[in-house]
Amino acid sequence: MLDWLIVGGGIHGTYLSNFLMNSKLCVHYKTEKILVLDPNDQIMERWNRNTRNSCMDFLRSPRVHHIDLNPNALYEFGKTQKFSNGSMYTDPYFRPSLELFRRHCDSVIYKCKLDKIRIKGLAVSIKKLKHCFEVESTAGFIKSKKIMLSLGMSNQLALPNYVSACEKWDGKICHVFDTKFDSGKIGHDKEIIIIGGGISAAQLAQGLVKKSTNNVTLISRDKFKTYQFDSDPGWIGPKYLNKFQKIDNYSLRREIIDAARQCGSLPPDICESLKNLVSNNLVRFILDEIELVRLTKTKRLEIKLNKTSERLVADRIIFATGFATFRPGGDLIDQLISELGLACAPCGYPVVDKSLQWCPGIFVSGPLAELEIGPVAKNIVGARLTAKRLI
Ligand SMILES: Cc1cc2nc3c(=O)[nH]c(=O)nc-3n(C[C@H](O)[C@H](O)[C@H](O)COP(=O)(O)OP(=O)(O)OC[C@H]3O[C@@H](n4cnc5c(N)ncnc54)[C@H](O)[C@@H]3O)c2cc1C
Repeated sequence: MLDWLIVGGGIHGTYLSNFLMNSKLCVHYKTEKILVLDPNDQIMERWNRNTRNSCMDFLRSPRVHHIDLNPNALYEFGKTQKFSNGSMYTDPYFRPSLELFRRHCDSVIYKCKLDKIRIKGLAVSIKKLKHCFEVESTAGFIKSKKIMLSLGMSNQLALPNYVSACEKWDGKICHVFDTKFDSGKIGHDKEIIIIGGGISAAQLAQGLVKKSTNNVTLISRDKFKTYQFDSDPGWIGPKYLNKFQKIDNYSLRREIIDAARQCGSLPPDICESLKNLVSNNLVRFILDEIELVRLTKTKRLEIKLNKTSERLVADRIIFATGFATFRPGGDLIDQLISELGLACAPCGYPVVDKSLQWCPGIFVSGPLAELEIGPVAKNIVGARLTAKRLI
């Protein structure tokens, strides 16, 4: 029987498996006593795909946020690396390049043998037995004393209702984080419309202009909102968290989280380069919303805009509209709540204790932990804050 089964092998699950096996701060769990269950072939596959598809060059977070234990590890690793083109960091805050971040992840996975504790499969239900939990998965039944749910929210894309009706249109309408989308395979000389005004929309627009001869139009219903991070760094430490964690009312916690998040924002440097592209006519920017889309006889997309009623014709619409904010985990979490009678706040998210236990033996990280960890729960640093609570 395992000591720990981590369900979900993204950044969170991978960092937490490293922490549980190697941190001096906790019991060193043995390799054969920990498994990470994830349906993808590669470790952190969703992260790699999402960051590649959004054409991200540099992380939004600083270089101390990564999957190794020592916060300086990425910086030290960087000193050993050679970069023939592009820089390793960007200002402000020494944000690492995606390339450096990836190489460092690969080195940590190799050094800590994190690939040896993976099992490919999807958890479908969790049952409480007398002394442990039994997870039913597509890889079979797995027994473990403790379960960490690190499911992320990559499976729940934020899309307007009309998109589901357009699915048959041969991938002409898609989401940048859809598993079927590949920004490297768009081709050239096409009219591309990107929907969204946040960091991913901006990076995608820049990436498509750099890599192709496509005409890129960006449609956003809001003006650009610049903010360095997706929430104030005070949320990483006691500045805001001390007060937040004393609040008993979970609806109030939710309101505070929602207000603290700079959703749809983009860092000033990315906003500046996007504005340059717009003023050089390399990207067309439209402040509006789509009212209607239809497929023309020539299999192109005709779009009617809401405010101006202008009509545009495109070959592809890519939504860069982020993730839906309902509670992640779908049927697995619904089943767990009803099986174990677990507490949820009015927003549907788990009410957990200070050690992030939903009930004895069931732990959460990422968005599922946000009512305890606060607005940064989903970020890389959220995994690091989660680990500290497990000590
Ligand atoms: C483009 C992009 C850029 C970002 N940049 C930054 C940044 O610079 N800095 C920062 O701090 N944060 C950033 N984030 C936010 C966050 O760090 C990432 O979203 C990160 O990938 C979250 O990691 P995760 O492990 O929680 O989720 P994921 O990467 O989504 O991993 C969760 C895993 O759980 C698996 N899973 C789900 N359900 C089950 C199940 N039932 N059974 C088994 N496995 C399951 C999924 O398949 C997935 O592999 C970014 C996010 C995006 C999308």
